[in-house]
Amino acid sequence: MLIKSATKFIENSHSAAAMIACLENQHGSSTTSSSSASAADPAASSLEPYATDFGGMVRAVPTAVIRPSTVDEVAAAIRFAASNGLTVAARGNGHSIHGQASAAGGLVLDMRGLSGPIQLVAGEYADVPAGALWEEVLEWAAAEHGLSPASWTDYLGLTVGGTLSNGGVSGQAFRHGPQVANVGLLEVVTGDGERHLCSPQSEDADLFFSVLGGLGQFGVITRAWIRLLPAPDMVKWIRVVYNDFACYSSDAESLVSRAGPNSFDYVEGFAFVNSHDPVNGFGSVPLDQARHSFDPTHVPPNSGPLLYCLEVALHYVDAVDAVDQRTAEMLQRLRYIRGLEFYAHVPYIDFLTRVKRAEVEARANGSWHTPHPWLNILVSASDIVDFDREIFRKILRHGIGGPMLVYPMLRRKWDERMSVALPEGEIFYLVALLRFALPQPVGPTVEEMLAENRAVVDRCRSAGFDFKLYIPHYRDQTQWRAHFGEKGWRRFADRKARYDPAGILAPGQLIFSPET
Ligand code: FAD
Repeated sequence: MLIKSATKFIENSHSAAAMIACLENQHGSSTTSSSSASAADPAASSLEPYATDFGGMVRAVPTAVIRPSTVDEVAAAIRFAASNGLTVAARGNGHSIHGQASAAGGLVLDMRGLSGPIQLVAGEYADVPAGALWEEVLEWAAAEHGLSPASWTDYLGLTVGGTLSNGGVSGQAFRHGPQVANVGLLEVVTGDGERHLCSPQSEDADLFFSVLGGLGQFGVITRAWIRLLPAPDMVKWIRVVYNDFACYSSDAESLVSRAGPNSFDYVEGFAFVNSHDPVNGFGSVPLDQARHSFDPTHVPPNSGPLLYCLEVALHYVDAVDAVDQRTAEMLQRLRYIRGLEFYAHVPYIDFLTRVKRAEVEARANGSWHTPHPWLNILVSASDIVDFDREIFRKILRHGIGGPMLVYPMLRRKWDERMSVALPEGEIFYLVALLRFALPQPVGPTVEEMLAENRAVVDRCRSAGFDFKLYIPHYRDQTQWRAHFGEKGWRRFADRKARYDPAGILAPGQLIFSPET
């Protein structure tokens, strides 16, 4: 049976080619659909990890999982799927929220099989297999070469192919652009099983830009050249607190829009609850709880339900005294609440892997494994003060049981030829509602959290905000058309027709249906 073969394959990850041959032999006579597989069937249960994702809200069982270790195996799997009417989803590390890396009844390509080795290209790029995690890229670049990718995500347990299919943003994006803007070349297998090497200068430049932020629709990325810079030794990591959102946002915008060689290397920030709540409140701010505590007597008595924490970082190699003096000067003109500043000097690697420590905590308290109804929105700077008034301070005034990130980026750092849909404004904010619910019956239900997300998006719409969902999720094509806008949708659909005419790639995004 097909599913039994799949199980055998997963156990023996060296035999992708054998698996494809096996599928080819068996297809037509003995394909077992996922829906008919019994839950007690051990073959079916080995597919189960590929049926869900970090979001934990969607279950979509594939017919088979292939763990390719070469581009040829990726191409063979796609060709097999194309000629047998199956859909194919590349799965990076499965950190999607709404089943975007799933293929119900189709093939899942476990891209972690394509994870090494990494090569240095002309001292300027890392040539990385798309299944590598960003933490693996960091380890290779910093430890072996004293180098570092220019642009990051906050959390590094994500694959290169996975974040390049969305955008990849963190506090460096204002300066270096998102991860999709730091790629020199891509190796891509399109929906017809053809391998392409593409770059901004190549004949296939359109494919290059299509795939970046392309939600897996146009091809499977098998390799990427990632731009490198010299890795700094140390980081001074600083948090300062505001009670006035307009001051917070205008300071944050001035930091990102006037960035020069002497500006911060990283700018982020978050909203938190003006209370002692251990998860949502004051305790979420200090960087080093052993050395600093949050003294609420500094918070002006007329402050609202939420406060705002601007988070910045400066790379350095010089003496600590010099960097302290420099940051003191840089902070001087900011309008945060004096007495509410927190800092730590940390090695660069510890700074970049900071969310790993939160992961360990969340695994220990169970909230890593509960569902994560996350919502990411890009909101124009022109609407962000209203967003604060209408959404943060009303709908989200009690917090969400996790970080509520809100920090600005610059549109000009994103290439318009890429597939990502952005708001119109030159400065826009990422608002990330990263909910970590404790196992029931402690926290709110998933339905309640999803309803709150809907209320947030509905309010953005009814208020006429200039916004786009980031890592978008919609249920049907009408909503996708609205997401891209008329012109953007035409380009997206044309690209789909060109690079995946049978419509078999990344079905879990629910954008296109396969041709029948
Ligand atoms: P998957 O979830 O496996 O796949 C995502 C999509 O990409 C799917 O459609 C899949 O088919 C497609 N895909 C995967 N690999 C390939 C490939 N090689 N070729 C073509 N298509 C492919 N995002 C940020 O921008 N910044 C952050 O700081 C950030 N932090 C996060 C922290 C956590 C804890 C989590 C869970 C997510 C975070 N994200 C962040 C979101 C993350 O970037 C996306 O969810 C990303 O898609 C996850 O990568 P993945 O490797 O798990 O991809």
